[in-house]
Amino acid sequence: MHKSGFVNIIGRPNVGKSTLMNAILGDRLSIITNKPQTTRHRIFGILNTESYQIVFSDTPGMIRDPKYKMQEKMNVYANSTFEDADIMLFVTDMQEQYGEEDPILERLKNVKMPLILLLNKIDTVKQDVVVKHIEDWKKRADFLDIIPISALNKFNTDALIEKLLTILPEGPKYYPDDQLTDRSERFFTSEMIREKILLLYSEEIPYSCEVVIDSFKEGKTNLGKDIIRIGATIFVARKTQKPIMLGKDGSMIKKLGTEARKELEKFFDSAVFLELFIKVKENWRDDDRLLDYFGYNQ
Ligand code: GDP
Ligand code: MG
Repeated sequence: MHKSGFVNIIGRPNVGKSTLMNAILGDRLSIITNKPQTTRHRIFGILNTESYQIVFSDTPGMIRDPKYKMQEKMNVYANSTFEDADIMLFVTDMQEQYGEEDPILERLKNVKMPLILLLNKIDTVKQDVVVKHIEDWKKRADFLDIIPISALNKFNTDALIEKLLTILPEGPKYYPDDQLTDRSERFFTSEMIREKILLLYSEEIPYSCEVVIDSFKEGKTNLGKDIIRIGATIFVARKTQKPIMLGKDGSMIKKLGTEARKELEKFFDSAVFLELFIKVKENWRDDDRLLDYFGYNQ
């Protein structure tokens, strides 16, 4: 009997949703840094074996007070995941606090599908703290199961998969066997460039950037080696941000280009030629047409 279904991973930013998805899928599908709001779009990751196919969906975290339209759209994605899945995984960690009035708790009570609570980052605390969290959470919503995990150390992630398989219905493969994700190579390219921006630049710069892949061409070098030629434009939200992106004599953008290229070469297992451009688009985060263009309305 072949089982299949959709599993949504939800929770606040930074609790380890993307780390979990990568732990399960063994690949760097979602970019991970210690800065919140790294995941701006919804990403499917597909776990395939002979006997089952589980389609995980990693979502942008739920932002409590959206400041930009971009963040509102991110919340729309997060909200849409309340409705369309076979199982919902709600992730929290050992540091997060929830007040009794928190709207998320209200929503969790109204979830119609099987709901599992994942208590992540248990590697950071002693066992009695984990037990205390379990007791507290039991009172807050009707969870089918509460599983303490460490996504980072892949602790209990196998137990999680086994649990999912007891719930998932008999069903077909929704995606071809060799497909790992619903996202394109261009998508991952822009995500990887964005990850490096998050790591290299500080304060509001990373959150003001959007990366668009202008060209992505696979070809051969003069010596017959595989090479991918990529052109990307980084949009910033203010004029003053452009010189910061460039750095003194272009040193920062050069560093960004090198680091991103190395990452892309690892990911695609090919030589990569990467060209980066910077453009100013004032206030793109509040511009509906640009948000469309950047893919926030899909
Ligand atoms: P997301 O915003 O929910 O997708 O969170 P991320 O997966 O991006 O993780 C946020 C941060 O928490 C990163 O620095 C991760 O390395 C860290 N993290 C995730 N899982 C664990 C865990 O099990 N233990 C510890 N100690 N850190 C974790
Ligand atoms: Mg994430």
